[in-house]
Amino acid sequence: MYATDSDELQAARAQLVSFSARLRDDGLAVGSAGNMSVRVGDVVAITPSGIGYDDMRPSDVCLITLTGTEIPNETGCPNRETPSSETPMHLAIYAATRARAIVHTHSPEVIALSAAREELPAIHYAITGLGGPVRVAPYVRFGSAGLAAAATRALDGRQAVILRNHGAVTYGRDLAQAYERAVLLEWLARTYRLALSYGEPAILSAEALDEVAAEAKRRRYGERRQP
Ligand SMILES: [Zn+2]
Repeated sequence: MYATDSDELQAARAQLVSFSARLRDDGLAVGSAGNMSVRVGDVVAITPSGIGYDDMRPSDVCLITLTGTEIPNETGCPNRETPSSETPMHLAIYAATRARAIVHTHSPEVIALSAAREELPAIHYAITGLGGPVRVAPYVRFGSAGLAAAATRALDGRQAVILRNHGAVTYGRDLAQAYERAVLLEWLARTYRLALSYGEPAILSAEALDEVAAEAKRRRYGERRQP
């Protein structure tokens, strides 16, 4: 049995509703596009398919198992909604990574880049927060197992992937971190496009990125030692 009414799951559902509104307000998706999920133990709370962000309530957020079985909703809304069409992609990413939350956007800068480039290069050192240069996964139809496989493959060693002619996916240890990464990814894509307007931009080397990652790690250790 799955504990579908735990405080943690209730909090995750409420958080998914508020971050969905932010997704729209921040211009990372339009209408009911985009979706996000949070993993709580063996249960995944995922935004419903085709419901406008203004109308979404916590009880509309669907609960599924890690293998994709819908869990009857005991909080007053007996599966009125169907889980996001990208559920296979979310589940594949949970299976392949240590993700606890996933954000899928249809944001304009990454979509524009996806149509013209094979990856988002290191235009700024903050890209180390996504694991390095972000790959563009080949185009595969939305909602398909093929898209789930392509996205998961391109995520190897990264916390973000761009989906060609579609959008992007980021993940994190919680929804706030996954969302922050989606915003960072969109900002990096915009910055890269601006740099291209001047000509061929300088890109940071792998060594420079390794140095940034090592320094960030060292500083985090320093913070932990503080009383
Ligand atoms: Zn999508």
